[in-house]
Amino acid sequence: MSNLEELYKEIILDHYRTPRNRGELAPPASKTEGFNPLCGDELTVYLEVTDGKIVDIKITGHGCSISQASSSLMSVAVKGKTLEEVREVLSKFKNMMTLEGDVVDLNDPANREVLRSLGELAALQGVSKFPVRIKCATLAWNTLSQGLEEN
Ligand code: ZN
Repeated sequence: MSNLEELYKEIILDHYRTPRNRGELAPPASKTEGFNPLCGDELTVYLEVTDGKIVDIKITGHGCSISQASSSLMSVAVKGKTLEEVREVLSKFKNMMTLEGDVVDLNDPANREVLRSLGELAALQGVSKFPVRIKCATLAWNTLSQGLEEN
């Protein structure tokens, strides 16, 4: 395993063991539930959007380490961001998870640029090697998208 892969693994474990922004938000915050039947992952995303900005986000749920770590990473990435910024992160994340080829070549400068712009989220890139787990990693993001539509 390369140093970078080692680092990514550490980031995922850290967010799994110490998830950020756990909990619930009272109404009028929106509440959106997501479910990944392939793995049994469940998430509920609470969003408080004011003046076109995610001012607060909380998440509850259970499931595999990838799904829970991804939800924690997602919450950190979007909290305090404008909806425009959030949509940008969302599309970058989806692109990362579906980059051409089975394995992303981390030595390709173009890929490195994309990963750098994603910060800690890049840790989930390794998951794209395992098609079955992609739905675990994207569950939080799909639930967030759905929640944004309801806001
Ligand atoms: Zn899962």
